[in-house]
Amino acid sequence: MRRHVAEAPTKDSYRTIVVGAGPAGTLAAMHAAGAGSVLLLDAFPLPRHKSCGGMIHALSARTLARHGVRLDGTIREPERVRFRFHDWDADVKKPCSLTFYNVDRDTFDLLLIEMLPPSVEVASGCRATAVEQDCDGCWVTVDARGATHRVRCSILIGADGARSTIRRAIAPGERPYVTVQDVVELEGRIEPFFDCIYSSSIGNGHAYSYVVPKDGHALVGSVFYPRTKRPHETQDLVLEALRAKLPALGPSVAREAAAAAHVRSMRDIVPGAGRILLAGEAGGFLSPTSGEGISYALRTGEMAGRAAALAPERALDAYRSALRPLMAQIRFKLAVLPAMESRAGRALARTLPAPVVSAITRYL
Ligand SMILES: Cc1cc2nc3c(=O)[nH]c(=O)nc-3n(C[C@H](O)[C@H](O)[C@H](O)COP(=O)(O)OP(=O)(O)OC[C@H]3O[C@@H](n4cnc5c(N)ncnc54)[C@H](O)[C@@H]3O)c2cc1C
Repeated sequence: MRRHVAEAPTKDSYRTIVVGAGPAGTLAAMHAAGAGSVLLLDAFPLPRHKSCGGMIHALSARTLARHGVRLDGTIREPERVRFRFHDWDADVKKPCSLTFYNVDRDTFDLLLIEMLPPSVEVASGCRATAVEQDCDGCWVTVDARGATHRVRCSILIGADGARSTIRRAIAPGERPYVTVQDVVELEGRIEPFFDCIYSSSIGNGHAYSYVVPKDGHALVGSVFYPRTKRPHETQDLVLEALRAKLPALGPSVAREAAAAAHVRSMRDIVPGAGRILLAGEAGGFLSPTSGEGISYALRTGEMAGRAAALAPERALDAYRSALRPLMAQIRFKLAVLPAMESRAGRALARTLPAPVVSAITRYL
């Protein structure tokens, strides 16, 4: 990594502190830097590893292009994949026109960190453990490899993902989806699709699974509703059933579990309170229907950073107002979510012609 990364905050006070160095936090830090000192903290060593399918929506590519960032070095084989709805019960596949760039997520996240201006202080291995807010700003308690620091800021941006500590300081923390993803060796070719698999026969809290080829491997992931017991066992069954359908899937070489925000109503979306703004999954910003979160993280990170660069007492109002179009999109997606998850909705998707499923998918 070319950029200098500190092992602990070097000062007692910053204008802005951003917690979480994912896509939301990096964009927020970049834009907040226009107004003064910024500390960007991450609990894990950087560059970090994030369990992810690495499917980059055109909206993400467009946001990054506006920042002069090109995806070239992050893209893997096959470079573009098409979304395909796969109803496993009826073995019906509906290829859609929606396509994604197929990236290596770790390289993508590193690219974002490297684009930060040198004025942003980046500290890794530093976990925010508590926040106290008063009318002029916040105190953040940071555990830096066992040493405790108390750091002051005028405005705090929580971009610390689906299990956000910063969110819990101002709102109830919602239980997230549980995800399990395997990296599977490929012993033959599989089609260049991002297959989303729905099946009522899997049960045990299973929401959906996905398969996507990437550089001689396939990522096979499953998403489970909150509180699902023994998701690893269910993932084993999914893999076994998949191998019967796709003999090119070889042994799994790595498995990881993670979390994703579970957004079921507009109450689950929390832009912030007082001098705290929440961006990305910490605020509940992701597509509730598809789970696509990177474009939401980038866009809300940018909005939060721009708002934080204004007078701190105006930041939250400015952020809320910038969020309005995105909130309207989430409201729409939440309205269609129950139908999508219902048996009737799945049966309809099975029977509708592929171009109609494709047209609907563009809005999810
Ligand atoms: C298995 C899986 C597959 C996915 N696939 C896709 C996909 O293909 N395409 C897509 O668009 N989206 C995908 N997503 C969603 C996407 O990864 C997220 O929506 C996106 O990364 C959210 O970005 P973020 O910046 O809000 O949070 P994150 O990327 O989660 O970053 C949060 C950061 O905060 C840090 N942190 C947490 N707590 C603290 C703390 N207390 N102190 C300091 N740092 C802290 C973490 O270490 C982490 O680095 C997937 C998610 C999962 C789990």
